[in-house]
Amino acid sequence: MVGGAVGPESPSMSYGQKKSGPFSGQHNTPIPQRNNFPTFFIIQRKSEAKETFHGVSPFLVEKAISGSIGEVKSTKKLRSGDLLVEVGSFKQAKEIEKLKSLSTIPVQVCQHPTLNSSKGVISCGELLNVPIEEITEKLQSQGVSHVRRITIRRDGQLLNTKHLILTFSSSKLPEHIKAGYIRLSVRVYIPNPLRCFQCQRFGHSKSSCRGTLTCARCAEVGHDSTTCTAKEKCINCKGDHTSFSRDCFAWKQEKEIISTKIKLQISYAEARKIVKSKSPTAGNSYAYAVKKISATVSTQWDLADIPSGTNFKPSASTIITSSKVNAQNPSPVPVSICESASVTADLIGFQLVTNRKKLKKDSPTKTKYL
Ligand SMILES: [Zn+2]
Ligand SMILES: [Zn+2]
Ligand SMILES: [Zn+2]
Repeated sequence: MVGGAVGPESPSMSYGQKKSGPFSGQHNTPIPQRNNFPTFFIIQRKSEAKETFHGVSPFLVEKAISGSIGEVKSTKKLRSGDLLVEVGSFKQAKEIEKLKSLSTIPVQVCQHPTLNSSKGVISCGELLNVPIEEITEKLQSQGVSHVRRITIRRDGQLLNTKHLILTFSSSKLPEHIKAGYIRLSVRVYIPNPLRCFQCQRFGHSKSSCRGTLTCARCAEVGHDSTTCTAKEKCINCKGDHTSFSRDCFAWKQEKEIISTKIKLQISYAEARKIVKSKSPTAGNSYAYAVKKISATVSTQWDLADIPSGTNFKPSASTIITSSKVNAQNPSPVPVSICESASVTADLIGFQLVTNRKKLKKDSPTKTKYL
């Protein structure tokens, strides 16, 4: 009897699972079937008069939902007046999509555009020379919808690493996946802040910039940094460094906001509030444990997939008690990279994940690795 064949209603992550031994792929334990179906749906009123669920009786809404698809995991009213519903099973996901009305109220239902996917990082030397297309295809059955390899730039050359960023078609990141016979830990992927190459501010790219051209070296407006030899000054924190410096307090804080947003599955605005309130001074939060990296990274390629903080989707903050946030991970996976200083920005995010425990503690960490 193998305890792997669980239905979609079983919790996809249970802690204290049997551990695999010291060798990769030692046991042939199947990875439990994951919730790789959408779980977050938006219910919108179909109304000529643009009516919403503001003002509609909560008893009626709850009764109509449970009456048509059964008890759901959670229901929340968004600021827009639409409903955000988290379903608990594949069956419910199918049923809610077909919903045409709640009681007598005509509605339309769609999947939430961002809450139904998540990103994680795996590291596997055996996958270094396997084409991305093949990896994607082989991992599809475990809910992986997209794979990207992390590359580093060394001596002007772009080199592949054994680290892969996986996008899962589920809001919950699995703890492990299996690549053939090898069982791999999945860590949360935290992208780097997006810095605009025009105005040097965070959260948007040059193509959507409404600011003015600002020098990344001296923070003066009207010229770019390529030929600038003026004294270094950062536009974001006013410190004595370039805007692309990894020593920048503003950069580290931005990084922490993104990290908090992802780990707690909240909006950028909410994450920003948390970070701002708990880190009034530099140097006492887990984000500062990042190793000092030579500030040569000024390309935008590694920052491309970061959502801009401005176009924020309504969040499901209060209804999700994410197990991956609260879980006591008994043995954080050691990360065996980054011995060299020419590591790109992507890897910094990736290192941070190992420090995730520190996020939970309010006590500032005394250790600085800077
Ligand atoms: Zn800009
Ligand atoms: Zn300048
Ligand atoms: Zn700065």
